[in-house]
Amino acid sequence: MFLCNVCKKVGKSKKQGGFPVRSFTKAGASLQTRVFFQAPDQKPCNLCLRSFRCLTPTNEKIMQALLIGGGIIGLSAARYLHEAGWNVTVLEKGDATDNCSFGNMGYLSPSHFVPLAAPGMIEQGFWWMFDQKSPFYVRPRPSWALLDWGLKFMRASTHAHAERSARPLTDLLLLSKKLFQEWAAAGDLDFGLTERGCMMYYQTEKTEKEELENARKAEQLGLHVEVLGREQVQIIEPEVKPAVRGAVLFKDDAHLYPNALMQQLPVLLEKRGVRIIRNAEVTGFERKNGEISAVQYQLKTQNSKTETVHPDLVVLAAGSWSPQIARLAGEYLPLMPGKGYSMTVENPAKKLHYPCILLEAKVALTPWPNRLRIGSTMEIGPINNRILFPRVQGILEAVPRYLPGYLDDPVFRELADLKKLKEKLREKVWFGFRPVSADGLPYIGFAKKNANLIMATGHAMLGVSMAAGTGKLVAELADGKTTSIPAEAFDPRRY
Ligand SMILES: Cc1cc2nc3c(=O)[nH]c(=O)nc-3n(C[C@H](O)[C@H](O)[C@H](O)COP(=O)(O)OP(=O)(O)OC[C@H]3O[C@@H](n4cnc5c(N)ncnc54)[C@H](O)[C@@H]3O)c2cc1C
Repeated sequence: MFLCNVCKKVGKSKKQGGFPVRSFTKAGASLQTRVFFQAPDQKPCNLCLRSFRCLTPTNEKIMQALLIGGGIIGLSAARYLHEAGWNVTVLEKGDATDNCSFGNMGYLSPSHFVPLAAPGMIEQGFWWMFDQKSPFYVRPRPSWALLDWGLKFMRASTHAHAERSARPLTDLLLLSKKLFQEWAAAGDLDFGLTERGCMMYYQTEKTEKEELENARKAEQLGLHVEVLGREQVQIIEPEVKPAVRGAVLFKDDAHLYPNALMQQLPVLLEKRGVRIIRNAEVTGFERKNGEISAVQYQLKTQNSKTETVHPDLVVLAAGSWSPQIARLAGEYLPLMPGKGYSMTVENPAKKLHYPCILLEAKVALTPWPNRLRIGSTMEIGPINNRILFPRVQGILEAVPRYLPGYLDDPVFRELADLKKLKEKLREKVWFGFRPVSADGLPYIGFAKKNANLIMATGHAMLGVSMAAGTGKLVAELADGKTTSIPAEAFDPRRY
């Protein structure tokens, strides 16, 4: 039983079928000790309005949080929940050595405040479907989920939606960047955070016009941009010799080395007391009184043994696999996998100073010390391990069109030798599945039908950029705290 200090009524505890208490760690209490206690500025209790407020401390209990998915989103949420005093377990169906969070471009992109579902995407996407080398492709197939996602995506691709989404996306991207700066400053992780900005190169007048408009909007949102002419970028990048009309440099953008972050973060979390169970695939839920009462998972190693746990809070952060897991809990999540490819070479001869996006080709390049990654494409379709060679070819052909200096780089030439590449395709080409929401905004917040389930997915091409902020929001929502930034736009209950 809990006493609400506002309405002075006694509320039901969770076990008695009450709404789950958003618990707070009492000031001064050990992090492992959680007290059912709410800050005075919180919402009313479930008797006043479905959420506890100003509860008089009654009993003490360690609250258990279970995270599904050990990608960057799940691990970031694990970090902040653990810091907030939850006892955290992460279930990961793989061995945590590869998922979408590893081979991506590593951009932290406040510049990407326009949601993927934006005006013009549908028209452009339609024509790209007929080009095998195009960067965007929807694999047509008779699927209700795809049809529903497509219709929602179309409906969201409006100017009004783009305008509405710009502020919340910028806030989340900037919050995340600030938190990543804190992670780097803490000194226990070395993931190569570099704050240099990102160049957006354009070759056509049409794209130039669009990008300048984008730059204008960015400034209105408080971002810092610089428009550079052809000669200026050639001075800045003398070795790769950009063959472009010009570029916009988004100065707030940064980049990191995702592989290092994804290797080190689980180690750090485990050292701090987070339990990460690898090769553990969530296979089912038990539900009672409008919440998840048990989670079943299968251990792939020990004769497929099935285990059951009874967490207080469940966070679904399973990337592109989230819709089918949500379905097991009676939830609907409109989300499609968006496959993307990347290729990484060591010690390129030509130095690229700035990460850059070749706008018309939608190809991205990230330079790290002694390493270059090239990536692109968004294939909306089922999860499979096929590599579509023409698309890989499209990526590699775009690079010297914009940056002809690479034609004189033996390392790039070796990679772009299509005959050799075909022979070692699986070795040289990495792919991952971006979890693409139906309106270009991530799903972060409580689920519709299970009061103790938080969704944290749907980040599409911005999962790294938004990871730390998402983790922070998850922990704040779990504790019923006021969130660091308004999170209503990300509420999964919008569908
Ligand atoms: C080519 C490419 C380039 C990209 N570049 C960038 C970039 O520069 N910047 C950026 O911000 N983003 C980028 N992204 C997007 C970013 O990589 C993703 O948004 C992000 O990695 C998604 O993270 P996640 O944790 O949601 O999903 P994932 O990393 O896919 O993790 C989900 C995890 O859930 C696990 N799982 C699934 N089902 C179950 C189950 N039943 N039980 C237990 N575990 C389960 C999976 O095994 C997986 O490990 C890029 C993506 C691609 C493909």
